Amino acid sequence: MRALILSDIHANLEALNAVLEAAGSYDVLWNLGDVVGYGASPNEVIEKIRPLAQMNVRGNHDRVCCGAASALGFNPVARTAAMWTHDEMTEANRSWLAGVPKGPLTPDGFPGIVLAHGSPLNEDQYILTMRDAWAPLQQNGVGISFIGHTHLQGGFCQLNEQWHDLRPRYETQNEAEIWVLGLEEGVRYLINPGSVGQPRDHDWRAAFAIYDSEEASITFRRVPYDLTAAQGRILMAGLPEKLALRLREGR
Ligand code: ZN
Repeated sequence: MRALILSDIHANLEALNAVLEAAGSYDVLWNLGDVVGYGASPNEVIEKIRPLAQMNVRGNHDRVCCGAASALGFNPVARTAAMWTHDEMTEANRSWLAGVPKGPLTPDGFPGIVLAHGSPLNEDQYILTMRDAWAPLQQNGVGISFIGHTHLQGGFCQLNEQWHDLRPRYETQNEAEIWVLGLEEGVRYLINPGSVGQPRDHDWRAAFAIYDSEEASITFRRVPYDLTAAQGRILMAGLPEKLALRLREGR
């Protein structure tokens, strides 16, 4: 079984298209949240992901953009984008977004897997360091927790007293690349596929991952996409310029 795992698409249609094209065949698609917010194509992205995803977890931007939570905790740029997104979305897309459940979720038939936006213990928590990863790895009895939220591709793993962070190593900055992680028996993993639409690991390429249960592997991938078109849409929509600029820098 091959699961395509996407997170933090952030209404970037060009990045999503490039990812879907590169991903090839898969059996299920799991979306870890923040489909909208920041980018300029919220309706197109929702309408594309909705029929493809078997499981969706809500993200903090999803909650604010559909009006289910306040934007008080957001910085001014994020708040501006959330308000724009709220008004831009169709009624049908807003109500679909409002119905996306909170993580953690366990996909049917995969008792060893958990899907969450932030931490499996708290949907809004950023897992950035080993310190952040410790409690969820300790308390989670399952093998793999897929998480998003930080927009950083990679993750953490633990076997007894051994802890490691996982960071894909790529060779170029502009080409499609893969980095394969072989999964080991008994090890607990926190895996972030990275952000499709707004990477923040200083790599502008769209990020995603494929989990192969037979091969026991996770393939991290990066693909270039039509950055100029995505930036152009942000500017044309009147969204903050910073949101277009940061895409190029991957931060
Ligand atoms: Zn996000």
